[in-house]
Amino acid sequence: MPLTVSPCQTLCDWRRTRACREGLPLFACTGCGSQWVRTQPWSPRQADGSWPDGVREELLSHGPGGAAAGNAGSCRTTGS
Ligand SMILES: [Zn+2]
Repeated sequence: MPLTVSPCQTLCDWRRTRACREGLPLFACTGCGSQWVRTQPWSPRQADGSWPDGVREELLSHGPGGAAAGNAGSCRTTGS
């Protein structure tokens, strides 16, 4: 199932969700309904242009290319 991506608007408010996508923490925007994981080629921003909590940490700690993919932390794919 593809991620939902919608144009962000002035009411955008990103939150880290409890869900995971491809073993990565899934972030969601409560304003426009977009979803994001760090493998996406874009980065979410709050309505005021700031980095949402957790997003910058994701980008800084893992870097591009997923070099530290094993460090998924609390996010694990469930099921068998
Ligand atoms: Zn948004």
